[in-house]
Amino acid sequence: MFEKVLIANRGEVALRIHRACKEMGIQTVAVHSTADNDAMHVRLADESVCIGPPPASQSYLNIPAIISAAIIANADAIHPGYGFLSEDANFAAIVEEHGFTFIGPSPDHMRIMGDKIAAKAAMVDAGVPVVPGSKDALTDMQSARNMAEEIGYPVLLKAAGGGGGRGMKIVERPDELAAAFSAARSEAAAYFGNDTIYMEKFLTGPRHIEIQVMGDSFGNAISMGERDCSLQRRHQKVLEEAGSPALNDDQRDSISKISRTAVENLGYSGAGTLEFLFQDGEFYFIEMNTRLQVEHPVTEMVTGIDIVREQIMVADGAALSLRQEDITISGHAIECRINAESPIDFTPSPGLITDYHPPGGLGVRVDSGLYSGYRVPSSYDSLVSKLIVHGATRNECLMRLRRSLEEYVIGGIETTIPLLQRVIVDPDFINGDYDIGWLEKFVEAEE
Ligand code: ADP
Repeated sequence: MFEKVLIANRGEVALRIHRACKEMGIQTVAVHSTADNDAMHVRLADESVCIGPPPASQSYLNIPAIISAAIIANADAIHPGYGFLSEDANFAAIVEEHGFTFIGPSPDHMRIMGDKIAAKAAMVDAGVPVVPGSKDALTDMQSARNMAEEIGYPVLLKAAGGGGGRGMKIVERPDELAAAFSAARSEAAAYFGNDTIYMEKFLTGPRHIEIQVMGDSFGNAISMGERDCSLQRRHQKVLEEAGSPALNDDQRDSISKISRTAVENLGYSGAGTLEFLFQDGEFYFIEMNTRLQVEHPVTEMVTGIDIVREQIMVADGAALSLRQEDITISGHAIECRINAESPIDFTPSPGLITDYHPPGGLGVRVDSGLYSGYRVPSSYDSLVSKLIVHGATRNECLMRLRRSLEEYVIGGIETTIPLLQRVIVDPDFINGDYDIGWLEKFVEAEE
């Protein structure tokens, strides 16, 4: 087993990985920018190395600095967390070339899934249903026009190298296509350094359902059930549930099995997530994330499986510790993402935390690096805490969530807690009756 793991990330996910390592008797090395000198992940790690100034491009994305830190600290393996370099196949390859283990899938699998066109093609081959649309890159207007006619408007133009919900263009009518086509290409180039775009049928009221999977290097694969991540703002997830209030057991079992079989067919090793849109009883694959997801805790709560521990074991060459028949889903779990932002207009709200009191009690988990006296830097993503509740039923979860959000004190900055409090008492939400467009409408109606 590894003796020392370097955690190439910050914030709550760096802490999450640190905790798994400690329970496994593994030493941890934190890396950090100068903006994070006092961050909790740095304080708790056994060792820490400063890798650069605040901008992520010079620190958390600085591959030479991270590799140097791993050499100095004599680490065995590197866990990338999520975001930053976690889906960078070149980084994974460089890590391996330097004699460290990358805690994640092979660079080849990362490359395929990092190109959404290639990912969809691989999934079609593996027997997974995908959103109707172009099978290749769209390079000219004529083929875009033909494809749109074939699948029918509205259509969505997406970047092959896209992520983070950015760079998507909805096209409602044929006369909007030309302008959207060139805008999508230039945005793709600007955001992702790659102007390759493709087209999908735009689904008008789907839910976002994803399946947590895990494979090992012996060809075994498991599915750990679904998460419903339909509560989104600007295509970014805000609240996630396991299981989905929208699925019946047949639908649940069927998509779980399809996903597990795909992972087996692909020979994929490590943790991953297959993301689907679900509408009118049908699932449509949109992408696969080849890393730990922000929302992995809801799956952990209902399965009792420590996903980070499994990632580390599998990367170390062990077989999965569980077979599919060992996995049972117990109760329901909900995660809320708490951002350092105005709950009204979502402007970032970094600054000094003057008071901090997280909720606790039965079925409550808080994954956060916040503490009283900590200063939330302005240089990074605004996610500062994840509140996760687990209960025997969805109703029990909702009660627990309501009282936990009431208890949670984060003083000194604005957070999205008040918005979450309003959402979870809305009758639609209570009934589980929401699609990916619901939250945007809820926020607009409040303005
Ligand atoms: P990213 O990698 O940028 O997160 P995804 O392909 O995962 O992009 O899509 C993110 C979100 O965008 C989805 O959860 C969904 O809300 C919306 N979306 C993506 N594809 C479609 C589609 N074909 N129709 C409708 N909404 C879509």
